[in-house]
Formats: sequence, C-alpha cells, structure tokens
Amino acid sequence: MSATEIIDQQALNFFVKNVGAEVASQLEACTRCGLCADACHFYISTGNPEYTPIWKVELLRRAYEQNYTILGKLKTAIGLDKRIDTEDIAHWAVLDFQACTVCKRCSFVCPMGIDIAGLIGKVRAGLTAAHATPPKLMAMTKNQLEKGSPDGSDEAKWAAWFKWGEEQLGKSLPMDVKGADSLVVFTMLELNSFRNNLVHIARIMNAAGEKWTLSLRARDAFNMGTVIGDGAVQKKLAERIVKVAHELGVKRIIVTECGHGYVTLRQAAHNLFGETLPFDVVHITELMGDFVRQGRLKLRKGYFDNEHRITYHDACKIQRIGGNFDSPREILNLIAPSSFVEMNLNREQSFCCGGGGGVRAIPEAYDLRMEAFSLKAAQMREVDATDVVMSCSNCRLQFKEGFEHFRIQGEVKGLVEMVAEAMIE
Ligand code: SF4
Ligand code: SF4
Repeated sequence: MSATEIIDQQALNFFVKNVGAEVASQLEACTRCGLCADACHFYISTGNPEYTPIWKVELLRRAYEQNYTILGKLKTAIGLDKRIDTEDIAHWAVLDFQACTVCKRCSFVCPMGIDIAGLIGKVRAGLTAAHATPPKLMAMTKNQLEKGSPDGSDEAKWAAWFKWGEEQLGKSLPMDVKGADSLVVFTMLELNSFRNNLVHIARIMNAAGEKWTLSLRARDAFNMGTVIGDGAVQKKLAERIVKVAHELGVKRIIVTECGHGYVTLRQAAHNLFGETLPFDVVHITELMGDFVRQGRLKLRKGYFDNEHRITYHDACKIQRIGGNFDSPREILNLIAPSSFVEMNLNREQSFCCGGGGGVRAIPEAYDLRMEAFSLKAAQMREVDATDVVMSCSNCRLQFKEGFEHFRIQGEVKGLVEMVAEAMIE
C-alpha cells in the first residue's frame, strides 16, 4: 500500500468512525435551503459557492453516503461518485482550515438546527488524522505540547513576562496562591502583542479587592487541540489549567483575551473530563461587568466621550457562543455613553472578524481573511464608527491588520485597557 493510500485510508477511517447517528441525522436533515450561505462571511465577501458552509462538510456527507447507504455504495461501485482520495483531502483542508473560522454564524441560522460549525470541527479532526492540517498549525501544536505555548514561549519566557509586569506595577504578582478565588490565565498571543493587559488586569483585580492568582504551570489558555480538532491534544492542554485550578482550590478560572481558550475551558472541558468541574470559567469581560454592577469597580462616567465614535465588535467565541453580550455594553454605556454606537449587525448576528479558528495563523489565508474583514470594515463605515473595541487578542490583531490593509484611520482598542484607563483606583 502506498503512502498516499495509507493517508486516504486513515482519513476515511476517521470520517467513517465519526459518521455516527448524530452526524448522520444532521446530514440527512439538510434541505439545501442555502440560508447558511448568506450567514458566512467568506461566502458573502467572495461569492465563491465553495465557501457555502454546508459544502465545507461535503466530505463528511460523502463518507457517510459511500459507507452507510445502499445508494451511495451503488453510486461508488458504478463510478457515479469517486471514493474520497488525497486530492479531496487536500481540497477540503483548504476549505475547512482557511475558509472557516468556526464562528458558528451558520449554525445559528440553519432552520433545521444543524450545527454546521460542529460538523466542520469533525472534518478538521479527520483532516488532522490524515496529516492534512496546515503545517503552521501543526508546528504550533508541537510547540504548545513541548514548550507550553504555540509560539514556543517556554516557562522562562513567561516568568520574564510576569517579572516585567511586577516592575510596571511596582509590586509582586500573586503566584500559586492556595485558596484564591480566581485563577487568571492569559495567552502568549496577548502577552506578545498586548502585554500591558497583564498590568491592566492586575490593577483591575486589585482595585476590585479580588483574591486572585497566576500560575506558571497554568500559563497559556490557548488550545491548539481545539483549533486542529484533536480531542486528545485538547484534553492534554486543558488539563494543565484544570489540574492547577483543582490544586489551588479556586472558585473560578478567569480567561482573559482569548476566545477559543475560553470556550474550550467553559464548554468543552466538562465533556473532556467527564464531570462537572467544581469551578466556574468566566471571561474577563463578564468579570469586569460583575465588578461594576457590584460596585467593586468605579469607572469615570463619560471618560471616553470625545469626537471619536466607538463601536464594539462581538467576538464569535466570547459573545455569540459564550453569551457575554451585556457586560461590554454596560461598561461602554458608562464610559462612552455619547460616543458608543452599535454596528447594525451585533450581538449573536455579528460578523466574525475573519481571523479566528486558526485562520490568522495560516500565511496562505491572508488574502481571503482580508476579503472577509471587508464586511466588518463596511459595518463600521455604515455607522460612521472611527474606533472599534473588543475583548479578544486575535480579533484585535486581525482588525489591526485589516485597518492597515484597507488604510482605515482609527483605533483598535481592547475593552480591558479602556476599563483600566477609566478606572478610579
Ligand atoms: S441552512 Fe441548514 S438546511 Fe439550509 S442548506 Fe444550510 S445546512 Fe442545509
Ligand atoms: S462557522 Fe462561520 S466561517 Fe465557518 S462556515 Fe459557518 S459561517 Fe462560515
């Protein structure tokens, strides 16, 4: 058997294994109504029919038909459908890794309740089993497993970042505090690009009187297993954080500016570990909203009211999937009541920035993700917004690149930095 045939067989085996009753019933339920196409930023911005969400799971449908239905077996036998081969695998690797940010906008609109994004996750898993995942994502996965972070940042690098934070703060950061209420986890993306967030969040926690801690053992909320669809890797990486949370006996894990790290710990972890975890998983946006509502954090009213018009970008994983819609709006209505303006498509209807789900890390996806970003730029233009604020480092980097690409003047801000600036200490 040739290497190519082995790859094909591995991929096919995985797909077949995953075409269980649930997947099969979802695939059977599709009425080909096409509504999901109009939900996808990649399809809308390019008009390319291959970017229709349901087409991105066609490989799964074919695997199901070819292996489980009499008609499918017959079609393959008489040559009306060809067996899935290496060419198909390579083609869908591009569609599912470069033209999908797993934003779930399509899943939200499907009248048949098909979780298309969930199925795309299964295609990604099959592609990873077939060694067809983009090399950059695999290198990042290897780095995270071996060193702790996808960019290769190791414990010493994180220790240096924390030391820098202490110098900026002029006081020590709480490390491995047993009995702390909150364990705060950052990502390498955030500390590489928006390192001040470490100082901002420390100030916010201290000002609110929160009993909190960091840990070098639970240092990166990023989860490459989630990105590539590998459940074993996802569990191994999540375990590093969950284990420390157990040991320290915290009441909650606070995930800072990372969307997929947040949904991994908040939603997937219970299933990964087969138990209800004895602590909550809370996004920093939600926590800041709670602090303000509880009177633990005082913000200067109207601090950001000026000639700028500020809009909010709802991140797919933090808002559409995580449901944290109200806290950012309550905060913005407090610190920028006259400058804050909603985009016309907001909350669960918000368009993805185009850079999530690992897409931003794949060099070959640059042009396409900029096309997708053009929708977001148009949304901002529609309401004359000059600046945009959000709660996800990956979105922030995509917006910054998008602003540069389309020569958009204006600022890309993080909600954390705005809160830290408007806070009365
Ligand atoms: S919206 Fe749902 S039913 Fe309609 S084509 Fe897409 S997956 Fe099928
Ligand atoms: S999850 Fe988002 S990017 Fe992926 S197909 Fe659906 S709408 Fe498009």
